[in-house]
Amino acid sequence: MKKLIYLDNAATTRVNPKVLEAMTPYFCELYGNRSSVYSFSDSAKDAVDQARETIARSIGAKTNEIYFTGGGSEGDNWAIKATAEAYRSKGNHIITTKIEHHAVLHTCQYLEQHGFEVTYLDVDEEGFVRLEDLKAAIRPTTILISIMFANNEIGTIEPIKEIGAIAKEHGILFHTDSVQAYCHIPIDVDECHIDMLNTSAHKIFGPKGVGFLYIRTGVKIRSFIHGGAQERKRRAGTENVPGIAGFGKAVELAMETLDERIAYETRLRDHLIDRVLAEIPYSRLNGPRENRLPNNTNFCFQFIEGESMLILLDDVGICGSSGSACTSGSLDPSHVLLAIGLPHEIAHGSLRLTLSEETTMEDIDFVVDNLKRIVQRLRDMSPLYADFISKQEKK
Ligand SMILES: *Cc1c(COP(=O)(O)O)cnc(C)c1O
Repeated sequence: MKKLIYLDNAATTRVNPKVLEAMTPYFCELYGNRSSVYSFSDSAKDAVDQARETIARSIGAKTNEIYFTGGGSEGDNWAIKATAEAYRSKGNHIITTKIEHHAVLHTCQYLEQHGFEVTYLDVDEEGFVRLEDLKAAIRPTTILISIMFANNEIGTIEPIKEIGAIAKEHGILFHTDSVQAYCHIPIDVDECHIDMLNTSAHKIFGPKGVGFLYIRTGVKIRSFIHGGAQERKRRAGTENVPGIAGFGKAVELAMETLDERIAYETRLRDHLIDRVLAEIPYSRLNGPRENRLPNNTNFCFQFIEGESMLILLDDVGICGSSGSACTSGSLDPSHVLLAIGLPHEIAHGSLRLTLSEETTMEDIDFVVDNLKRIVQRLRDMSPLYADFISKQEKK
């Protein structure tokens, strides 16, 4: 079997074998319901408590501010819809951006159908929110600012500390989708004045279907899933004990190696970017060079389609993506690439390659060598490219 080079870590990651090991006992042996009275359930309780402690520490929160969820999308829905409901008497205006994940964008669109007003902020050509735009959008009726910590397509790390300070100064709640940033860069909820923050385990070598929402003490949002009294009556449903135990382990492992991982991935990322831009003509980097997620690269190649590149990369065992998992399958170019000002025809030729600590320098070189060949092959078949070249030659 040919070697798999998996460069779609922003879509999902594998489960680290050590994480699986931490989960395994809670399936067949220690399967007790955490809410039961008998001592057999104590290990399930301990596992959840321990994961909650590890996780609270990882963002500078208190343990009673961490609520386990069924993943990143649930956290986005909960934070935004529950804020809208709980703070309705104060106002009906929400501020977000044009480059959020669909879990945020579609939730906001849903609320617009229910009497809320939403401002979708523009971003600059590298994907950064402009603070003066944010300030100008604030109204007396604004109840929530929801801006992602880092973008899942182009890796832009937003000025979260400054955004948090603006929200705090105006007495507005601040939610940040941190699915891509969590365990990839340091996060401190107090330093950034974050009121709500959600994450997902399967983006950091944990299992799918589990995440958490951080809710700062004093934020009055209620339960989103009604039922039992789990998660201090704020999130009903029997706890996903194996998933939570695995999430805790994934966070423990990730936080132990955070600094080295950032340095390592940044080195690979910059090598990949430098080689592509130097060796493939008519290519561009989407997103910034600085303040970019250490594991993210995103390119556009003129005259070709992202989808055809993906198929040819797949032939040599390389997994990448074009836009996000949510937009592939549709013919629409990514809303993020359009928001940074790319014309449709260029946005179609995008390729996102997201690395992990398991990626090697040899992998990167193999990918660039193949990419050069693939881009050339596709351009050789492209009438647009032929046309472009003949015009160049006439000049
Ligand atoms: C993956 C992702 C989500 C969704 O998380 P799930 O656990 O898959 O529901 C939300 N926001 C961002 C930025 C993501 O990258």
